[in-house]
Amino acid sequence: MKKKVLITGAAGFLGSHLCDRFIKEGYDVVGMDNLITGDLQNIEHLFSLKEFDFYHHDVTKFVHISGRLDYILHFASPASPIDYLKIPIQTLKVGAMGTHNLLGLAKEKGARMLIASTSEVYGDPTVHPQTEDYWGNVNPVGPRGVYDEAKRYQEAITMAYHTYHGLETRIVRIFNTYGPRMRLNDGRVLPAFIGQALRGEDLTIFGDGSQTRSFCYVDDLIEGIYRLLLSDYAGPVNIGNPSEITIKEFAEEIIALTGTKQKVIYHPLPKDDPKQRKPDISLAKKLLGWEAKIARTEGLERTYSYFKTLSYDQLHKKEHKDFTQYVK
Ligand code: UDP
Repeated sequence: MKKKVLITGAAGFLGSHLCDRFIKEGYDVVGMDNLITGDLQNIEHLFSLKEFDFYHHDVTKFVHISGRLDYILHFASPASPIDYLKIPIQTLKVGAMGTHNLLGLAKEKGARMLIASTSEVYGDPTVHPQTEDYWGNVNPVGPRGVYDEAKRYQEAITMAYHTYHGLETRIVRIFNTYGPRMRLNDGRVLPAFIGQALRGEDLTIFGDGSQTRSFCYVDDLIEGIYRLLLSDYAGPVNIGNPSEITIKEFAEEIIALTGTKQKVIYHPLPKDDPKQRKPDISLAKKLLGWEAKIARTEGLERTYSYFKTLSYDQLHKKEHKDFTQYVK
C-alpha cells in the first residue's frame, strides 16, 4: 500500500521541494501551509495530481487528517532573520504549539515524525565546525531568540515524545540552504544579492563580510532528509555542505555569476549575527552514507537560472528593495 506523508510548510522553499521528492518516490502527499511566508506558486504544478492534497491551515491550531498517516515532516516556520523580526510570535508558536499539535497527531496515527531543526540551535558557535554534541551559544532574548529557542524547544519536546511515548522521531539540523523557490524578499543573503544584481542595485554586505557560512544546494539537503527519515536514528543529525566561505567572497561569486557592474556597499552587522558556521557531517556520512554532491558553482548557476525567470513585477516589488530597513 502507498505510504502517506504530511508535509507542513508545503508552500515554502524546503516544503515544496519535499513535496516534489515524495511525489516522485510514489507517496501520497498531504501539504499544509498557512501561507504567511509560503507561496502557492511553489506547488501549483502539484494540484492536478491525485497523489497530492493541500490544506490551507495554521498548524498552531488543532490539526486533523482523516485516515491513516505514515510520516509527518514539520517544515512550517518563518526561517529568516527578517521574518522573525516581522512575525516573532508566530515564529515561536509554530515551533512550540505547532510541533506539539503535530506530535499529538503522530502519536494518534502511529506515524513517524521528522522535525526541521537548524544550525541556529548552535547560536554564535564557539565550537567550529559544529558537531551534534555541541550545546550552542544562543541569546534567548536577542532578535534571533524567537527562532533559536523555538527550535530548541521543538527538539526538546520531540525528544520527550520519543522517550516518554516511544514515538518514532527524527531531527534534522539544517544549515544554510539555497536554490530555486527561495523567496526574493526573505532577507537571506542569496536572494538579497541575486535580487540586487538583477535590479542593478549595489550588493549589501552586513558587517565587514568576514563572517562565514556554508551553503548547501537544496537537492542535496532533500536527499539527506529523505535518508534520515528512513533511517532508525532518533538523535539530531547535521545536514549541510561543509564548504565554508566568507560573505565578502560570496558577494564576489555572485558578482562574477551575474556580471553585475554594481559595487558592494556595507551596512551594520545585525545583532547576534553568527561569526562563523560550518557543519561537521561525520555523523550523516556514517549513518546515512550522505554528503553534499553539488558544488557551489553548479548550484549557484541553477539558482540564478530560476531567479532569471521571475517577472519584472515580481523582481521590483517595493518590499524587496526595502528589506534592509528591518535589519537591526
Ligand atoms: N547578509 C548580508 N547581506 C544581506 C543579507 C545577509 O551580508 O543582504 C549576511 C548576514 O548578516 C549573515 C549572512 O549574510 O551574516 C547570512 O545571512 P542569512 O540571513 O542568509 O542567514 P543566517 O544569518 O541565518 O545564516
